[in-house]
Amino acid sequence: MKLKGKVALITGGGSGIGAAVAERFVADGAKVVITGRREEQLEKVVNSLPSGTALKCRGDVSKAEDVAQMVETTLTINGGIDILVNCAGLSVLKSITNITLEEWHQTFAINLDGPFMLMQATIPHMIKGGGGSIINISSLAALRHMTDAPAYCSSKAALNVLSRQVAIDYGPQKIRCNVICPGFVKTEMTEGFSKLAEEVGTDLDTFIANIFKNIPLRHPEGGDKIASVCSFLASEDSAYMTGVVIPVDGGTNIVDTFGAGISRAITELSSK
Ligand code: NAD
Repeated sequence: MKLKGKVALITGGGSGIGAAVAERFVADGAKVVITGRREEQLEKVVNSLPSGTALKCRGDVSKAEDVAQMVETTLTINGGIDILVNCAGLSVLKSITNITLEEWHQTFAINLDGPFMLMQATIPHMIKGGGGSIINISSLAALRHMTDAPAYCSSKAALNVLSRQVAIDYGPQKIRCNVICPGFVKTEMTEGFSKLAEEVGTDLDTFIANIFKNIPLRHPEGGDKIASVCSFLASEDSAYMTGVVIPVDGGTNIVDTFGAGISRAITELSSK
């Protein structure tokens, strides 16, 4: 029960990684407020958790008035906020010549302005409570480039920089701010892979297994493996860590694409 007595605000908590974080935090003793745009999704997650452990607050992280409401709802639990997890995110996979300016702005509004406003609104409450832990869910795309993802990669890279800024500025007030960069996690956000699999005439599992042939741990994981690292970062177990960027990706970030290409070429060409 390493989060016993703690109150956490989790954005994007109605699905995927955010829902897994809510489940894990409650299992570790915290009370949570989950936010997102879809009421039914939030309701489903709250109902799946023990009564009295979770509240929902529908809202859009890119709107200041909704952010204020999220913080107000969290304060109703015991007057404070100990943990903030910025998990809501948007991925638009279009190259610079295809993405519209509106899509570019929308991506930044959700992936960067949202965490900015949430940190701005929660940090004063954390200071009042004697400290806190902020965990920003970024992406491996902030460290390595994906094709056709200029807005996603840039917004997540900016989130990494902003997080380290918060770590520097608010460390003296006992606020820690750390970043998790997930690799591929099977959620609604990665449903696009089903279409790709279909296009090459296979099923999603075979397609993903093929992608993971070059990844050290060889298999994808679910949101629970991101949630367990979030729980560590939220707890006193990580009390001396701030400003770090942690890839949670089965080792994807250490693979050299050229070296992996050689291995693949040898395997594929020698079997012909
Ligand atoms: P998901 O689609 O299940 O979750 C994203 C959540 O954010 C959804 O619940 C969605 O409703 C919410 N959301 C989107 N826009 C919002 C807005 N304006 N206001 C409030 N909520 C909003 O996908 P996920 O994979 O669980 O994504 C969670 C986070 O993890 C995202 O920030 C994503 O960029 C990051 N991530 C995911 C992967 C992956 O492979 N799934 C990899 C790297 C990073």
